[in-house]
Amino acid sequence: MTDSQLPDLAVAGESIGAGERRDLEVSAARLPSGAMVAMPVTVLRGAETGPGFWLTAAVHGDEIIGTEVIRQVISRLDPVALRGHVVAAPVVNVHGFAVGSRYLPDRRDLNRSFPGSSRGSLASRLARLVLDTCVEPCDLGIDLHTGSDNRTNLPQVRGDLDDASTRDLAVVFGAPAMIHSGVRDGSLRGAAVRAGKTALVFEGGEALRFDEGVIDVAVAGVMRALAHVGMIDGITPAADTPFEAQESSWVRAPASGLLRPRAALGERVVSGEVLGTVADAFGGTERPVRARLPGLVIGRTENPVVYRGDALFHIAVVRAATDGA
Ligand SMILES: [Zn+2]
Repeated sequence: MTDSQLPDLAVAGESIGAGERRDLEVSAARLPSGAMVAMPVTVLRGAETGPGFWLTAAVHGDEIIGTEVIRQVISRLDPVALRGHVVAAPVVNVHGFAVGSRYLPDRRDLNRSFPGSSRGSLASRLARLVLDTCVEPCDLGIDLHTGSDNRTNLPQVRGDLDDASTRDLAVVFGAPAMIHSGVRDGSLRGAAVRAGKTALVFEGGEALRFDEGVIDVAVAGVMRALAHVGMIDGITPAADTPFEAQESSWVRAPASGLLRPRAALGERVVSGEVLGTVADAFGGTERPVRARLPGLVIGRTENPVVYRGDALFHIAVVRAATDGA
């Protein structure tokens, strides 16, 4: 198929030809010093028609695992063999990424700033730019995140599992867990869904660290998702069916003190099970941290110094439909 038979594809004002890879530096914001900050965006356009698939990472600037996931995915894709196009932004929050921060320089959370406006604040403008550049030219996509605040996450996907195409995508992704999650106002996923797109969030590992196991799960999941929508060939399905949960909740610290965790990520727990203990600094009292509901440990704090009420263990709750699965 020749170029002329494919519809025009423009990303950030650049026309992308069939079978082409383009690495774009998209002007994101001018610093107070006058220098321009650019968001890197790679576009891979297949020689044949197919869906548009966006990949975004480091919307929270310290959540760098997705950046590596996108790098590995892009290295495996041959634009000539691709059907459709991939728009990949490995470092969305360029400011936060540079200084290891979740936030933008104005302390705003970019993932609470969507859909944004081209006439708004820094966060609002960047949100709008991401939607226009990455989401608008595509049909579906995945936004890659990690745990925040010294928390680590079991590899998992989140999305509106009541929507059939989203649920199918979550199943084929093949992460250990898939969690139903309603649309959050201000998030990239929320804005994408409202624009009629199919969107998933991947969560895995922790901020400011690479975790090879998590990266492997995410790379394999993205490749399976691309194959699922017909963009690439030769990908084998996931061996295991993900644990599915309709909801999740945090078990909080019963007292201030020092946490000794017992439950590991990916562990199945029963109601009342001791997940860890919180001891005071004298070593005199030790309070158990108990699961309130049966489920799967999908997140955990890595900070042993805790205040009463701090979120310690994130449990994906087993519902009747998946109990015993
Ligand atoms: Zn995040």
